[in-house]
Amino acid sequence: MDYHILTLFPEMVREGLANSITGRAMDNNLIRVNAVNIRDYAFNKHSSVDDYPYGGGAGMLMQAEPVYQAFCSLQLKEREGCRVIYANPQGRVFDQALAAELSKEKELVFLCGHYEGVDERVLEEIVTDNVSIGDYVLTGGELPVMVMIDAISRLVPGVLGNEESSVGESFTDGLLEYPQYSRPPVWMGREVPPILLSGDHAKVDEYRLRQSLIRTRERRADLYEKYRQRAIESEASLKPKKRKLTKMIEEIEMEEIEKGPTEQ
Ligand code: SAH
Repeated sequence: MDYHILTLFPEMVREGLANSITGRAMDNNLIRVNAVNIRDYAFNKHSSVDDYPYGGGAGMLMQAEPVYQAFCSLQLKEREGCRVIYANPQGRVFDQALAAELSKEKELVFLCGHYEGVDERVLEEIVTDNVSIGDYVLTGGELPVMVMIDAISRLVPGVLGNEESSVGESFTDGLLEYPQYSRPPVWMGREVPPILLSGDHAKVDEYRLRQSLIRTRERRADLYEKYRQRAIESEASLKPKKRKLTKMIEEIEMEEIEKGPTEQ
């Protein structure tokens, strides 16, 4: 995967991504990070890249030409069809599904804004996707782009040591991940659920699915509701005995009713 990042702070993204798993992926040439300094394409003698917005208002705006020239300088494998992502709070909110979709591309271009943002005309000219990392405003697009590259890269084959590790994780199947435990079996009087030590893989899988359902219901009612609807619909054509997920969901919801309201 080739990432091209247009930014005023190339060191920030290069250094941020050069550590840990993304760093190893760069060393192994599974991902390549080409951070281009937009300031190198400033067209005036002061190397300025920002100016006051027409019509007034607070702050400065990144000008169109340096961004455009930085974009034109990129050596892309295929300029046509290459996705150019502008990180900004007005975009579609980034999620695991978009990370998975983008991980299938061979190269991606990211544009990091700064100050009050970027002159709209260059955005119209080059951007294919507006993507936000959440409903809050940051000072620049560098952190959002690092967040996206991190999430995308761990779905690129070979980047995670064990290919299995991205399977069954939170969001991949619409549920949050189950709680996990490692050694020792008892810590501060808290025991690891005995079933996890039983060696019975079918039981462990069932236990984990149940825990995922309980956890998602408690922490992300919105995701749980979507999952529940889909599960019930997909099992509707099966004989009642075979509707395993539906049964598990009913049991969990019954247990909750029997427990009564929990004290806050
Ligand atoms: N004036 C703009 C915000 C500018 S913030 C507005 O009100 O919409 C400056 C830069 O930070 C943006 O150009 C963008 O690249 C980045 N940024 C800020 N918040 C972001 C978010 N939630 N997601 C992605 N990028 C963001």
